[in-house]
Order: sequence, then C-alpha cells, then structure tokens
Amino acid sequence: MKVFARLLALLVLLLAALPGHAAAPASPALPSPAPGRLTVYFLDVGQGDAALIVSPTGKTVLIDGGPPEASTRLAARLRELVKGPLDLVILTHPHLDHLGGLRAALKAVGAKRFMDPGFDHPSEAYRDLLDFVGNEVGQVMSPEPNPASPQTLLTVGLGEGVALTVLWPRVPQEAFLADTRSDANANSIVTKLTYGKTAFLFTGDSEPPTEAVLLQKPVDLTATVLKVAHHGGKHSSTAAFLERVKPQAAVISCGVGNDYGHPSPEVLGRLKDVRARTFRTDQDGEVMAVSDGTTVTLRSAKGGAGAASLAGTQRAGSPVALGPIEPTPHGRAGRSVEKEPEPGTSRSRTPVEPSAPTGTAAATGERYVSLKGSKVFHRESCSTLKRSKNERTVYSSRADALRERRPAEDCHP
Ligand SMILES: [Zn+2]
Ligand SMILES: [Zn+2]
Repeated sequence: MKVFARLLALLVLLLAALPGHAAAPASPALPSPAPGRLTVYFLDVGQGDAALIVSPTGKTVLIDGGPPEASTRLAARLRELVKGPLDLVILTHPHLDHLGGLRAALKAVGAKRFMDPGFDHPSEAYRDLLDFVGNEVGQVMSPEPNPASPQTLLTVGLGEGVALTVLWPRVPQEAFLADTRSDANANSIVTKLTYGKTAFLFTGDSEPPTEAVLLQKPVDLTATVLKVAHHGGKHSSTAAFLERVKPQAAVISCGVGNDYGHPSPEVLGRLKDVRARTFRTDQDGEVMAVSDGTTVTLRSAKGGAGAASLAGTQRAGSPVALGPIEPTPHGRAGRSVEKEPEPGTSRSRTPVEPSAPTGTAAATGERYVSLKGSKVFHRESCSTLKRSKNERTVYSSRADALRERRPAEDCHP
C-alpha cells in the first residue's frame, strides 16, 4: 500500500517534471494542434475505444487501444501524433475492444507508465498484454488512492494546469462494483480531464451502477465533452447522469454497422434531451477536440449525418465551438475535488526519488522476484507480480537480485 502511495506521488511528480515533446503534424484530414492548447483525439478504431490526450506541454496519455483489428491503423496514427513514448497509458478495463490494439501501439511508440483498474479478468488477451506491459513498460500501476489522504482523488498533472483525475475505481477504500451486468465494464477507470473552464469526461464502458456511485460523490461531474460510455449502449448514459455531466458535446466511439447496434437510439435520444452535440466515429471518423482553457473546438475527419441531424445547426465536418462550463449552482456537486491536488502535484516541487531501503531484506526476510524476460526485479509483495503469470526467478536477498537485474520503478525494491 505504502509502495503504491509513493509510486503514485512519484508519478504525479514525474509527469509534472518531464520535458514535453511536441506533437507531430496531424494527418491532412485534421489540422495540427496549436501550441498552448490541450488536444484530445478520439481515434477511429472501429468498434472499440481509443483516445489520445496531448497536453499543452506535450505530455501524452492514451486511454484504451481499440480492438485487435485496429492495431495497424492505431500504431500508424500514434506515430504521426506523438514523438517519444507515451507518458501514460490507461486501459479503462480488460475487454478486447479496448486492449486489442495496445500491444501494437506500445510497440510503435512505447510508454513510460501503464495503469489499469487491477480488476481480475480471466482472458488470455489481457494476461498476454499484462505480461508484455510488465516487460516493456517501466511502471505498472492501479488507480489506488493515497492511503495517507484517502479522500483525495488521484490526480495526474499534465502541465499548464491540465489535470487528469481518476474518479473510479477507488479500491481499496471502496470495493469494486459486483453483480452488475458486466463487472469488468462497471469498474472501468473513469477520468476527468480539466483545463481552465473546460473539461472532458472519459467513462470507458461504465455501467449504470458506476454512474450511480459517481452521482453520490461530492465531485463536480460537469464536462464540456463526454466520451459516451460503452459505445452508446442503451443501459449506460442514464438521464440522471447526463443531467449532472451536462455535456455540450458527446463523442461515441463505435464501428460502422457493428453487431451490437451501437449507439442505441435510447442513448442518442437522451443525449439530445440534454442538448449535447453528438459525434460518432462510425460516421464522423476521427474526432479532434481542442481546448484553449475557455472554449473547446471540435472537428471531425469526415463529418457525418448523425452529428448534423442531432445537432440541428451543425454542418457536417464544420468546426463546433463550445463555451466554458458555467459554475454549478448547487454547492455539493460544485465542489471541485480535482482542484485540490495531492501535495506532490505542485509544479514548484522537484521530484524526489524515494530512497531505496537498504539492508532491510535480512531483517524482514523479504524476497525479490523477477519475471521471465524482464530486466528488473520487484519486491515479492509488489502487485505487478500478482498480475502476471510469467515464469519468475526468486532471489533471497536484494544483493543477489541486484547482481542480475535492476530495481523496478513501481515498488522500488
Ligand atoms: Zn467496449
Ligand atoms: Zn467492455
């Protein structure tokens, strides 16, 4: 637990301190992001999800990696949009339409950190991905709140006041949701990205119980742009939830003529009820949203009939500018937790590498473990190990481990 708290604090510091990398020119279909702007690309991956955040300082976060069929396309697009490894990759939940292209994405551009809900899922694809990530990505982590301040939401600073806050899940402070239609979906990582008076809400494939939990929290859920849950599936995006989020625009990531009938007419209707301009990747192609902190401007690669007919005044493919979020009138919902980041997020702080404990192995009897094919070793208690089925080498002392491997960045053995 302490290890995670330390790791998360470190993550926040590192993201704040890392030098940015400028985004490469976008494909001809969409203009390049301007410097000083926050850009979110809702990538066209067919039936699945993948969104890339490029912060004003060039920090990059990939949320989900689409289905396996999107691998080649996703990898090529990321090569166009990012230089150097992704600062953070978030897998919202272990379903194939979100993780299938991640391996190709990671191979194409690399990643420094990987976060997933830590929700156990018995699929070979997920296990293989974790093994790959365990070997190729420096840090693997769960969105565990800091035990020292369990009420504070985990916030990742992306520079220039841009913050990505994890709203769900909150294990171990709050148990994973159980007995839902899909517990894997229901425990999707839900994040809110804020920049000035604008915000984006990423919901993964969250379920109505996820929305109910979020609605009970003293958290400001309002967002300029909503990544619609579960590809527009009819159960999610409940009216109560949409009324709290008050999205001015909604993006549905789904495949052309998909087998699930996504997005459902019910959800399209509920989005219309809250007057959200709706984009869908099956009709509009890639959707790019640019925020200057006050206004979010959305453009789509193709511009589709769906967006035009729903929004009424919107011409296909033409940019849509959305104004700032108005302050929420009722105090409870308006308390913006993400504006009280963890102590470590202050940009004036310099990263402090937690000092590696020395000589504790003999005293505690702790052992050290390395996964097959990996260059690093972990404490035996490290949760990364629990999530990998790879063959392992056990060392009875830190000194022994150090002779062959280097300490992992997640548990700092
Ligand atoms: Zn999905
Ligand atoms: Zn799912």
